[in-house]
Amino acid sequence: MRRVYFDNNASTPLLPEVFGAMRPYFSEHFGNASSIHHHGQETRAAVERARERVAELLKCRAAEIVFTSGGTEADNLAIFGLVGAGDHVITSTIEHHAVMNACKHLEGEGCEVTWIPVDGKGQVDPSDVQRALRPNTKLISIMMANNETGVLQPVPEIGKIAAEADVYFHTDAVQAVGKVGIDVKQIGCDLLSLSGHKIHGPQGVGALYVRKGTILHPMIYGGRHERSRRAGTENVAGIVGLGKAAELARAGLERGDLNEMAALRDRIERTILRGVDVTGVNGERAPRVPNTTNIYFDYIEGEALVIALDLKGLAVSTGAACSSGAIEPSHVLTAMGLRPDRARASLRFSLGKQNTAEEVDFSLALVPETVARLRELSPVYNRQAAGS
Ligand code: PLP
Repeated sequence: MRRVYFDNNASTPLLPEVFGAMRPYFSEHFGNASSIHHHGQETRAAVERARERVAELLKCRAAEIVFTSGGTEADNLAIFGLVGAGDHVITSTIEHHAVMNACKHLEGEGCEVTWIPVDGKGQVDPSDVQRALRPNTKLISIMMANNETGVLQPVPEIGKIAAEADVYFHTDAVQAVGKVGIDVKQIGCDLLSLSGHKIHGPQGVGALYVRKGTILHPMIYGGRHERSRRAGTENVAGIVGLGKAAELARAGLERGDLNEMAALRDRIERTILRGVDVTGVNGERAPRVPNTTNIYFDYIEGEALVIALDLKGLAVSTGAACSSGAIEPSHVLTAMGLRPDRARASLRFSLGKQNTAEEVDFSLALVPETVARLRELSPVYNRQAAGS
């Protein structure tokens, strides 16, 4: 059966070049990067080359990159590495769980957290961040691009506010890296998270940019790896893969590859909105990363549509989470003001480098008929169609 994968915000396939770069580090180059002999020197050099590649992608110094086990750990390290009891943190209501649940944990540990709302387009208003500042504010953590809608946040404006107030600024850029150009100085952030498997690198590896001079407490104690900011023998093959993925991401951005992806994404939106009634794009009027669209299909359970499309070979996703047996609508979409039923009726299509125009055609042929079939089963839709 033919399968098309449009869930690249969940995870991207490893590019063959990335796998090729990693392969020797599973076999002949096995040394511990901390060892001083030849085998260690070989893997140390590979780790440092990868660090340079990641730094080039973010336009920072190699020494400012800390390798982690992924985006979640990078987010946690940024937050727990800086914030302690009595501190105040500013974050948003649309953060990924890696930031949101870390901040909720802080609330239970004697910290105060201000949750900044978003508007109907899915964006934080920087003046709300300004107003939320307090004398004990230690950290602002606002994501760069939302994982569900792709909406970009006004991070340079927030960076300016943070700098003026002398408060640390962390941005979770896991869904922005490789999709838009990043310059940490232009953003004005002190910390920035990224993840390998969102940029066609391996799962289980990520990085945190830590601006020079930032005093960050480690979360994991052990040896003096990563300049004592993250103990543990380096995941050399993973780090090499992340470095290669970063190099390819930068080359793709420079070539303008993402323009093609944006055109495919726009075609998905146009065709669905034209061909299927009572649909719309969540976050349509905001600046967005080029690979993501989040579309609501009223009178449908998003989960049911995901399953029906999967049975026909198309992989997409909802932002909904199953908690205690009930499907909770996405916290991101409800924060944007969507009614819970519309939030539950929303699907995310997210493209990757491997997707083709032909795959878009395949999926666009499937979606309208699948939606129509599910709506036939919906008493609410039928009443509406009958005009009652
Ligand atoms: N932050 C955002 C915005 C994400 O989309 C994700 C993953 O979906 C993460 C953090 C967590 O990254 P990882 O899967 O590498 O732990």
